[in-house]
Amino acid sequence: MPCILIPVIVTHTIDELHGALAQLPGKRGLVMTMGALHAGHLSLVEKAKAECDHVVVSIYVNPLQFGPNEDFEAYPRDLAADTALLRGAGVDVVFAPTDHVMYPRTPLVRIDPGPVATILEGTTRPTHFAGVLQVVHKVFNLTCPDVAYFGQKDAQQLALIRTMVADLDMPLIIRGVPIKREESGLALSSRNVYLSDAEREDALALSATLRAACEALAAGATLREVLDLAATRFEASNLRLDYFAVVDRDTFRPLALLGHPMPEWASDGETGTASSTISPETLLCAAAAWAGTTRLIDNMEASCANAQ
Ligand code: AMP
Repeated sequence: MPCILIPVIVTHTIDELHGALAQLPGKRGLVMTMGALHAGHLSLVEKAKAECDHVVVSIYVNPLQFGPNEDFEAYPRDLAADTALLRGAGVDVVFAPTDHVMYPRTPLVRIDPGPVATILEGTTRPTHFAGVLQVVHKVFNLTCPDVAYFGQKDAQQLALIRTMVADLDMPLIIRGVPIKREESGLALSSRNVYLSDAEREDALALSATLRAACEALAAGATLREVLDLAATRFEASNLRLDYFAVVDRDTFRPLALLGHPMPEWASDGETGTASSTISPETLLCAAAAWAGTTRLIDNMEASCANAQ
């Protein structure tokens, strides 16, 4: 039997999207992206393909999740290249709306993402997670997925989406997908295109420090020791640290924090750390740093310290 390649249906409006979805019965997987696709995004698609009857990918650079001085205008956009990649990956429907389709007027009803949105990424990007949850909730409503796939790369985002789905009884399953890295250890990101060759080299200190911190935790280091290790490594690098944190991977409660003040609700009063002894089973090390003017984020679970 010859293999029949079913073309990806590219939709831009809600009517087009619903028309395409109506032809696709069965279990539906959703992957939300901002485009500029790379192998990290495709790993989410691959997982969705393996588990679902059809896969919908949204491509939308959501203005609500960018702050006033962030890279909304400069964010890389190439719908033709993205569509070609998704066609090759066997995606059924692409939803690439305009701002007018997504936000015909400024939304009055907003999602309040709660206290976890005020720390780490939320300290530097105070309106970010409210904007993320607003668009995620809308795209869930528009596409009605059975399962939605999100990268562990954005671990705080993943934790907040899981919380929203649980707290609002949203009828779908959320799957986290491991971080895809270059051989060097650098986590794939659409923003890596901003890096010069030298900055790309400098950026390796981020994953290397996270790996060293996770290994130290697994070997029984205290939180204070891990903070000192991270501080020394970032000081010796060409990166400008925003924050380094050890968090509980499920609740995202910070247990140790460098670069930002420990939030009152997470602290037991000790400077920078919430307790001095910990078990590495439920810990995640997360960090953000600038390589030149490019802000990079990464994280690693203590229990997979040796994983690439
Ligand atoms: P973005 O286009 O950056 O909004 O990312 C869309 C989705 O892809 C999010 O769920 C990200 O967490 C995920 N993602 C981005 N980079 C990676 C990566 N290197 N590995 C795995 N997932 C990723």
